[in-house]
Amino acid sequence: MTALLCVRGLKRHFAIRRPGGLFGKPATLKAVDGLDFDIPAGRTLGLVGESGCGKSTTARLVLGLVPPGAGEVRFDGALVTARHDAAWRRQRRRMQMIYQDPLGALDRRMKVGEQIGEPIVIHEPALPAPERAARVADLMEQVGLGARMAERYPHELSGGQRQRVVIARALALDPALLVCDEPVSALDVSIQAQVLNLLDDLRARTGFAALFISHDLKVVRQMSDRVAVMYLGRIVEEGAPEEVFHRPLHPYTQALVSAIPVPGRKRARIVLEGDPPNPVDVPSGCPFHPRCPQAMAVCSREVPRLARDSGRSVACHLATAPAVQAAE
Ligand code: SF4
Ligand code: MG
Repeated sequence: MTALLCVRGLKRHFAIRRPGGLFGKPATLKAVDGLDFDIPAGRTLGLVGESGCGKSTTARLVLGLVPPGAGEVRFDGALVTARHDAAWRRQRRRMQMIYQDPLGALDRRMKVGEQIGEPIVIHEPALPAPERAARVADLMEQVGLGARMAERYPHELSGGQRQRVVIARALALDPALLVCDEPVSALDVSIQAQVLNLLDDLRARTGFAALFISHDLKVVRQMSDRVAVMYLGRIVEEGAPEEVFHRPLHPYTQALVSAIPVPGRKRARIVLEGDPPNPVDVPSGCPFHPRCPQAMAVCSREVPRLARDSGRSVACHLATAPAVQAAE
C-alpha cells in the first residue's frame, strides 16, 4: 500500500546574491537537497533540526506553495504541483497547514467564528448557514473554545486561544494531512503543552496524518510515530522516536539528544564546535563534517548515503562503512 504522502528526491535550491547588493557574488542556497520520506494515512512524521536546515521550505514544497527544483511530492497517489488550478485546490482542501504565528495567520478584521467557517463557505458554498454555524460551533468545542469566542476578534484572544482558532479552521474541511510548522514555538512555555495535547487528542479522534515540524526534539518525540532529523537540507537519521532518543546513531542526533536534560540522570553534553549550518556554503562530503566530533578523512570527500536497516535510517560513514573507518 502506498503511503498518503510520498516524497522522493525532493530538492529546492534558490539563486541568491551574497551580501554586497547588486555587486554581490551569485550563490546557491540549498534549502532542501534531496529528501525522501513517506507518511502513511493517520500517522505523524516529526521533522526536527536547527533553523535554516530547510524544514519550512519542506512544508511549502509538500503543500505545493513552491515548486520543487527536482523530485516530487505525491499526495494520495497524485502529483502535488505548484500550478494553483482546480485540481490543486481539491488536493489542498485535504492538506491543511498550521503556522508558527497564529496572529499572522488570522485576519485581524474578521470575527473568529467567521474565520473558522470561511473554508466551509469557500468549499461547500451550498451548505445552509444554520448548518455551517453548527459545524463552526462543533469545531470550536473540539478545540476547547467557548461559543462566546465566535464573536471576538483575534486581538481579543490570547496566543494559545488564537492557535486554537487556527487549528479549528484547519480542521473545518476534515483534512487527511495537517502540516504543522513550529505550531507552539511562538507560544508561552506554559501554553505549549496544552496546545500539543490538544493536537494529539484531535489526531487520535479524527485520524489525520501530520508532518510535524519543530526545532525541539522533545516536542517532536511527543507528537510523532516516526522522527526524521534534518541537517542542511537532508535527512541524516530517521526512526521510531524512542529509538532515535535512546540510541541515536548519527553524531548530529547524538549532540541534539545530549542537550536534553533527563531528570535524575547526568549525561555528558556533546557541544558542537564550529559555525552553525549555513545553506549557502554547504560543506563538501558529509555536510556535518566541520562540526562532527567523529569526522574521518573520508567525511570531507564523500557524501554518506541514507542507509536503511530494520526500521532505522542513518546517513553517516561510521554506520555504513565501518571498513573505511578502520582503514583510516
Ligand atoms: Fe561525522 Fe563523518 Fe558521520 Fe558525517 S559521515 S556524521 S562527518 S562521522
Ligand atoms: Mg522554519
